[in-house]
Amino acid sequence: MKLSVEFGRCEGHGLCEEAAPELFRLDDEGDLLVLYDPSAEIPSGQEPAAERAVRVCPVGALWRLDHSQAG
Ligand code: SF4
Repeated sequence: MKLSVEFGRCEGHGLCEEAAPELFRLDDEGDLLVLYDPSAEIPSGQEPAAERAVRVCPVGALWRLDHSQAG
């Protein structure tokens, strides 16, 4: 499972950090930090958290790359 992270869309709501604290963090400036290699697969065991993060992001900055094509 891979995620696409569009930093330009991120508004720093931090919901992904709550959903997946091992994968995402906001720094003191409210900028999104990705705590894994985003060009690689989600670390083993973190897939459920990653899916939660995709669902909660209010601006659609996160999405699955290897999911069914959704237009
Ligand atoms: S939930 Fe979305 S908008 Fe909020 S910090 Fe995460 S990626 Fe950015």
